[in-house]
Amino acid sequence: MPELPELEILKDELNAHVLGRQVKEVIVPEGRGGDCPVPEWKSAIEGATIVRVERRGKMLVLQFDSGFSLLIHLMMVGQLLLSSLHDGDPNDVRLILAFASEQLSLGQVALRFLQLVPTSELDELPQLKKLGHDPTSEGFTVGVLKSTLAGRRGKVKPLLLNQSLIAGIGNTYADEILFDGHIAPTRQASSLSDKELQRLHSSIVDILRRGLEMGGSSEMAFVHLDGRKGAFQEHFQVKQREGKPCKVCGSPIEKATVGGRGTYFCARCQE
Ligand SMILES: [Zn+2]
Repeated sequence: MPELPELEILKDELNAHVLGRQVKEVIVPEGRGGDCPVPEWKSAIEGATIVRVERRGKMLVLQFDSGFSLLIHLMMVGQLLLSSLHDGDPNDVRLILAFASEQLSLGQVALRFLQLVPTSELDELPQLKKLGHDPTSEGFTVGVLKSTLAGRRGKVKPLLLNQSLIAGIGNTYADEILFDGHIAPTRQASSLSDKELQRLHSSIVDILRRGLEMGGSSEMAFVHLDGRKGAFQEHFQVKQREGKPCKVCGSPIEKATVGGRGTYFCARCQE
């Protein structure tokens, strides 16, 4: 599933390539609209210009000068692709925003995971309002992490995945972060020492930055706007490496279910 680095990449690419573009037509291929109110979307977006693109947690927001915003969640395998108008439709396309000579198409995700809202009401949406700290913001300090986890019951990994505490970390980056921080995914968050919290904070910041620098993680379906894959998956330390030797100590990487999610870790390196 695309997580913070992948969505940040798409945000930057959208800002570079579609900001200021006017949408000529909104196209929902026949039978693909589900319950989506296509006529409403057309009247809100057609003829409107994209004036702002932002990322909130693992979601993207396209703001239009018509006063509406489109909230996009790519879920597990959703893809956004920018292509020439006459390139034909990418795989399993659900929505196309057609510009003068190019098109932005959304594929492999049901339209019910998109939401069109008046921009003035954006901040009141429950799923945005509840988002926790952005770990890439300057305000995300060790102190903030410490107070975020303070008094929380439960294991550290599910807490890292809790979007209302820290927004943007998912199942892939959480495993890599905990390996980097030498912390077992099953550790009770309340048992982390100050030194461990410091290490966890550094690992959150470093691993997300590394994911970003490597163009994101394409172990599933993530691609850039131009269809390129990211490379972070080629540098996984634990994710999808069950039974393979730990790159640090040589012990076999293990897989277990933690908080209901498949979790990879090194039992020797992580305490
Ligand atoms: Zn190890």
